[in-house]
Amino acid sequence: MKIAIVGTGYVGLVTGTCFAEAGHHVICVDSDSRKVNMLQAGGMPIYEPGLEELVKKNVSAGRLAFTPSTQEGVEKSQIIFIAVPTPPLPDGGVDLSFMEGVAREIAATMTSYKIVVDKSTVPVRTGEKVAETIKRYNKAKVEFDVVSNPEFLREGFAVEDFMHPDRVVVGLASRRAEAAMREVYAPFKAPIIVTDINSAELIKHAANSFLALKISYINAISLICEASGANVQEVANGIGMDTRIGRQFLDASLGFGGSCFPKDLSAFIKIAEQLGYDFALLKEVQRINTLQLDRFMKKISDTLWVVKDKRIGVLGLAFKQNTDDVRMSPAIELCQRLIKEGAKLRVHDPKAAEKAKAILGDAVTYVPRMDDVALDCDALVVATEWPEFKKLDLEKARKSMTHPILFDGRNMFDPAEMERLGFIYKSIGR
Ligand code: NAD
Repeated sequence: MKIAIVGTGYVGLVTGTCFAEAGHHVICVDSDSRKVNMLQAGGMPIYEPGLEELVKKNVSAGRLAFTPSTQEGVEKSQIIFIAVPTPPLPDGGVDLSFMEGVAREIAATMTSYKIVVDKSTVPVRTGEKVAETIKRYNKAKVEFDVVSNPEFLREGFAVEDFMHPDRVVVGLASRRAEAAMREVYAPFKAPIIVTDINSAELIKHAANSFLALKISYINAISLICEASGANVQEVANGIGMDTRIGRQFLDASLGFGGSCFPKDLSAFIKIAEQLGYDFALLKEVQRINTLQLDRFMKKISDTLWVVKDKRIGVLGLAFKQNTDDVRMSPAIELCQRLIKEGAKLRVHDPKAAEKAKAILGDAVTYVPRMDDVALDCDALVVATEWPEFKKLDLEKARKSMTHPILFDGRNMFDPAEMERLGFIYKSIGR
């Protein structure tokens, strides 16, 4: 099928590339011409495992192209996916101005039947607004359908998730759109859940809020474990093996971050409020998450007594493993708090250092090699769960430090082993 993707970011680029890999013809649109130029020249604006190879392969095969022009995308396709940002407003609501802008652009340029699919995460009833907008701005009164197709991929595993989804959710109101959406997703051989548009939109916010709730639940348990001498990892294993609960998203840590959970949670609370319900449960999820970083910070300052002028090595800047994304990263927030207290930071991330520089600037020292981070440090902090951190030569790291103190915000190491190696070791809930 002929597909346009408007918004070529983490979601749009993965979506477009995977559709091309499935045999469709895809044109990816982005208003950021630097991004388009970079992609056209064979560069990659983001890091995502396996993505670069797939982009190259599908561009060479003539199934994937990039343009700064929405008009070109609309003209060359039957189905237009919108994957633009839906950032938070100061009151927790959602800024839908990017969506509205794209809906107007599509309306102004379409001259034949189109299916407009919203892939961005949006509040329930946004589809109705998109349809109203297109109707209002399309002078030719061309027929169209609006579809909601929320995306569930995880950054760091995006290609794998997109190619092999647990399910595909499509919310729609016409048989014509349903037939087209089934054809688009047929190569992926995944269960397709067809709903009305409002339900599809709600599924995304309900799913992300539930996952955030699961993380805050285990983080709250970690507090009880610390106070009682229990081990949160053993508790998580014990409850997670119950298939009704599941082990995923039960890892205690310094809290969740990223461009989705914090914003989607605030949005869902706001949506509920506008619909007349006080979603106090989700407010507590937010509170626990904030508390988790506060508690971790307190652990550091309690142990070091005075943070000012302490040399601290930080492993990890991305909001989680396998990504260069630092948006709302707890690791970055931790760095900012430590800098504010006067610490001298030596930081390392396998992929996110470049993007972190835009936030932290030269307030920290960027260390290219993981093994050099601990040099002459008073303490070492693990802030992101990159698997390679497990391979750190701990013996060497300890010897290179002025004081062997390790704060593990991701429970990556074994407390008994760390003690044996001579570390003062503080982790979460153990
Ligand atoms: P992103 O910021 O990485 O990408 C958005 C892209 O849209 C940018 O490249 C931007 O330049 C472009 N853009 C903005 N306005 C435009 C316009 N008018 N025309 C063309 N391009 C325009 O954002 P993202 O992380 O890909 O998220 C996009 C949406 O998908 C959001 O609603 C997000 O909540 C949702 N989502 C994200 C993830 C994720 O893991 N990142 C997962 C599921 C859903």
